[in-house]
Amino acid sequence: MALLADPDRYIEVLQTDRCPLCFLLHDYVHEHLKSLLEESVTDPITREALFQSRGFCNRHAWLGVKQGKHLGMGVIYQSLLEKGLRELSAGPKFWNRTKVKSCPLCESEKKRDLSQIQQFAFSWNLSEKLREAFINRGMLCLIHLEKVMKQKLNPSHRKNLYETGKKALERLLKDLNEFLEKQDYHRSHEVSGKEQDAWIRAVRAISGERE
Ligand SMILES: [Zn+2]
Ligand SMILES: [Zn+2]
Repeated sequence: MALLADPDRYIEVLQTDRCPLCFLLHDYVHEHLKSLLEESVTDPITREALFQSRGFCNRHAWLGVKQGKHLGMGVIYQSLLEKGLRELSAGPKFWNRTKVKSCPLCESEKKRDLSQIQQFAFSWNLSEKLREAFINRGMLCLIHLEKVMKQKLNPSHRKNLYETGKKALERLLKDLNEFLEKQDYHRSHEVSGKEQDAWIRAVRAISGERE
């Protein structure tokens, strides 16, 4: 796939405590699932992929429920249940038949994640504007920082990303330490500054966005 440099896409979503790659991926998965459930539930290719994976994985199935897509989810799971019962009635030779493929939404999430990592690295190499904006108000989660660092980067730009990315995570650790120190009974009334939600920001920086 050709790499497109679109640094503005990342600059727009930079935040001091939020990884732009996690944020954009999260957005993509939500939108993809929403459009699939609204427009593609009767599309033969989508149906076949969902037959082969026996529906969505637990995480994406419940995301569909959370989105309130009762019609789309109902149609998909009705056909899965019917098919499952047919196979069950057909006896043991069908029960052990095919391997279950992985969830189609997980697959497209994985592909999008990789292409975004490559595009971010590409944009980082090209755009002074992105690098400056990141120094002022950017961070990457630990996983994305490591993955972008593994991409092809100009050595001085790599060093720049390493240093600024590390600094952003160190700031978070400082806030988290402050939060934990104030958990002591005598100091609990002092928890009022930016350290209040440091434990949630740390979860986001290590485990990604909330579904
Ligand atoms: Zn991330
Ligand atoms: Zn999935």
